[in-house]
Amino acid sequence: MTNISPESCRSLLLWMQEKVKKVVLVTHANPDGDALGSTLGLHSVLLNAGFQSAVVYPTDFPPLVPGLENYANWVIFDNSEKQACRILDEADLLFFLDFNDIKRTGRVRKKLEALSTKVVLIDHHPQPIVETPFLFSDTKVSSTAELAFDFIVKMGWLQHLDKLAANALLTGIIADTASFSHNAGRPELYDATARLIAKGADQHSIQEALFNTNSADRLRLLGFALSEKMRIFPEYHAALISLTKEELKKFNFKVGDTEGFVNYPLSVKGIIFSAFFLENEEKIKISFRSKGGFAANDFSALHFGGGGHHNAAGGESRKSLQEAVDKWISLLPQYSDSLEKESRAER
Ligand code: 5GP
Ligand code: MN
Repeated sequence: MTNISPESCRSLLLWMQEKVKKVVLVTHANPDGDALGSTLGLHSVLLNAGFQSAVVYPTDFPPLVPGLENYANWVIFDNSEKQACRILDEADLLFFLDFNDIKRTGRVRKKLEALSTKVVLIDHHPQPIVETPFLFSDTKVSSTAELAFDFIVKMGWLQHLDKLAANALLTGIIADTASFSHNAGRPELYDATARLIAKGADQHSIQEALFNTNSADRLRLLGFALSEKMRIFPEYHAALISLTKEELKKFNFKVGDTEGFVNYPLSVKGIIFSAFFLENEEKIKISFRSKGGFAANDFSALHFGGGGHHNAAGGESRKSLQEAVDKWISLLPQYSDSLEKESRAER
């Protein structure tokens, strides 16, 4: 179970039945498998439950959900700004999924902030700062998709959950747990998964859509990053990978190609903190991953203006790639004790 209270679902349901026709779901920019899966899943259920539902994605995304063409009524703000704004203007209720801070919605943020429409937030990131009486936030669940599934159950909408919705929700779960390899220790996760499969979710095509869509360029870039650009700092149980614009160009980089690269150094025995630096036109995008008690989100918030989950966070730097990397390396000694302690706990 999650911490979603049946009482708040009941009052939301009553209010929705009385006052709400049009709902719009929004998720973060550069939506990942969980952002896409949780929105498309809940959206499908809302449509089946008789609401006029639409999804507004801030930016474009790869086809991470199988059979994406079968989902109706979604737009990308960056490609269809006018249409997206019209849809948002007409909404009686907004659902925000998979983000804790409106900052993460990119260019659609301004539009969202100008609306006074009521919001339901469903998310699993720590410390949500979106203001709403309908706050469904639980950091122990694997994914927003798992939380959305529990929300659907508690809203009494299980009969509206069809194969499309099940496929989308299971995509979110499998994406955020990397196929049940992390955040995957709670029995409820497997209960939700079993119920989604019983509803027709096809885990094989989900695996294909999420993980077996590499381009040869991406795989070569990964090979290059691991063999030429990975640096290990054994004394600090830490490792990094950095990629310059020129290197990316050489491998015909497309957005999303470096997704997951940050996880590889963590699979080196003894490494418990990994960082990935990506140089793009206007800034350096940084990803952090950690194991155990080492808080990647606190580290990022303190030093790289970001945040996220305890073990998976992101941040950025407006300095040069070299300066960002040097700053990270220079911070390691002050974390030496906690990194050492965590590495012992992992052994
Ligand atoms: P990724 O490394 O995959 O980009 O991000 C990992 C996690 O960190 C995401 O799930 C997201 O929650 C969070 N995250 C990534 N970038 C940022 C950022 O710039 N600010 C904040 N607050 N969180 C971020
Ligand atoms: Mn998520």
